[in-house]
Amino acid sequence: MNKLGQYLQERKIEYYPDHEIKPYLTMGIGGKVRFIVVVHRLSQLKELLSFIAAGGHPFVLLGGGSNVVFDGAFTPLPVIINRTSEIVKCEGAHIVKVDSGVLNKDFLTWAIENRVGGMDFLAGIPGAIGGAAAVNAGAFGQSISTALEKAEIFIPGSGEIKTVDKDYFRFQYRDSVFKFGSEVILEVYLSYTDEDSAEIREKVKEKLRYRNENHPQWNANVHTAGCFFKNPIIHDKRGSAGKIIESAGFKGRTYRQLEVSARHANFIINKGGSTFADILDLEQQITRTVQEKKGIILEREVIYISPEGKKY
Ligand SMILES: Cc1cc2nc3c(=O)[nH]c(=O)nc-3n(C[C@H](O)[C@H](O)[C@H](O)COP(=O)(O)OP(=O)(O)OC[C@H]3O[C@@H](n4cnc5c(N)ncnc54)[C@H](O)[C@@H]3O)c2cc1C
Repeated sequence: MNKLGQYLQERKIEYYPDHEIKPYLTMGIGGKVRFIVVVHRLSQLKELLSFIAAGGHPFVLLGGGSNVVFDGAFTPLPVIINRTSEIVKCEGAHIVKVDSGVLNKDFLTWAIENRVGGMDFLAGIPGAIGGAAAVNAGAFGQSISTALEKAEIFIPGSGEIKTVDKDYFRFQYRDSVFKFGSEVILEVYLSYTDEDSAEIREKVKEKLRYRNENHPQWNANVHTAGCFFKNPIIHDKRGSAGKIIESAGFKGRTYRQLEVSARHANFIINKGGSTFADILDLEQQITRTVQEKKGIILEREVIYISPEGKKY
């Protein structure tokens, strides 16, 4: 780890030793980590990953940190915050190549300016494109798996960088092989449709309006990771986890510093100072009650990360 500190210092890469992870997570639950490393360029990310992998060390890579909670008081690993930022239109092919660290909101701003349509479903989903691809983020009946054609990835075991197609992801509802795996998506190729800037802007606005009216606001004082549970399959169709949790009596309930949102019962809000033990307790209360009262097994959508870097 000292070698990593030296490596980062020599290359003037932004890093923070023994630092709180909370400010990097929208849910704000986690302890300290050995290194937070913020990477802004793809070449820098590739080199850093090769360096870490050559030493055989585990690491955690995050985009926007909007779907994760750290379970330990101290995680003795580097946590890479991916802020790579390049977007390039591949002329003639209706394909756009996006660095995995580009935030969804920045991608949408660019998409509006560049008349790249079909991505408006990402409006209001926090996080980065790589994170969205890893968890197959989606909304309004669409998800990133529809647009993703191929990706360049890094494989920590071999240190190899290769291009893989959509099948490699094994996309499912809010899932892909990257969600709990250690391979890293470096950049993605997304297919798009031509659309007027004004039309895209209006669609984005519409989606943000819907979210503002129906979801809890998310800001510096309202910490959440979005939908906590996956929508379960009921009679061959995805039901609403929010409605199920509501009918089990949890909507608006508080537990210590946590609150089951009064607006949407699948959003759990950390009002400040919540611990991993608190969230685990509440998760268990909800899943147990829903199973007893409704006979439905809820599966967590939010990812927990252990001090060994295991995602579960
Ligand atoms: C207010 C709010 C609303 C939300 N609404 C939605 C919604 O409508 N639909 C939805 O699907 N989600 C929603 N979410 C959840 C979350 O924002 C999405 O899942 C988002 O796409 C996660 O992206 P991220 O960059 O924050 O990922 P992170 O939380 O940083 O990481 C999530 C997982 O992806 C992995 N990962 C991240 N980047 C990479 C990479 N480059 N390569 C390989 N693995 C990677 C991480 O290691 C981790 O396992 C919401 C969250 C909030 C807070």
